[in-house]
Amino acid sequence: MASDTLHRRGLMFILSSPSGAGKTTIARRLLAEDPEIALSVSATTRPMRPGEVDGKDYHFVSQDEFDRMVEANEFFEWAHVFGHSYGTPKAHIRAGLKEGQDFLFDIDWQGTQQLHQKAQADVVRVFILPPSLDELRRRLIGRATDSAEVIAARMARAQAEISHWDGYDYVVVNDDVEACFTQVAEILRAERMRRTRQTGLIDFVRELTRG
Ligand code: 5GP
Repeated sequence: MASDTLHRRGLMFILSSPSGAGKTTIARRLLAEDPEIALSVSATTRPMRPGEVDGKDYHFVSQDEFDRMVEANEFFEWAHVFGHSYGTPKAHIRAGLKEGQDFLFDIDWQGTQQLHQKAQADVVRVFILPPSLDELRRRLIGRATDSAEVIAARMARAQAEISHWDGYDYVVVNDDVEACFTQVAEILRAERMRRTRQTGLIDFVRELTRG
């Protein structure tokens, strides 16, 4: 009986980082290459950006609808981030975890803290750091038209986010995107083998230890 065919409980894999650390690239690749993990699609009140798809990147909702969802206790966690509301809808995730579906969460440190409080046993928290302050600045400079103030504000925001790194289980430095991706994938692989997630092994072990 191969252990990877046995049923296990899904896990909640949280990836956080300041913008400019390369989290989006890592997340996209994990989702593309690993069929057992799906993105947790958050609800947000922020306007849709070009290229984004409603229901795929986010559920784009009005503030009224967001407030209704908060009232109805439909979120695992929610937070105000940069002037907009963001939240993780609960029902879909709960059902998926039971089926052995893993979920990837691209949420900030506030959401991570709340998810950890509510679902500690299912949560794995990974923080991605940029390789240096200079490299972070280079990645945040973006368009040549951005003013020095805009860039300084982005740097300050990124550094504030980094200061919450101690609320995570794993930390990976994104020096080389290939190496970083491999490390993140290894964390996921090892976490799937945690005894407590391998609920399907109980009967198997009972069989193995039969007198
Ligand atoms: P963006 O608007 O650029 O897609 O995301 C802005 C920030 O909101 C990012 O730091 C992202 O991780 C965070 N975020 C996205 N969805 C959620 C969510 O459901 N809950 C929380 N707490 N943060 C979120």
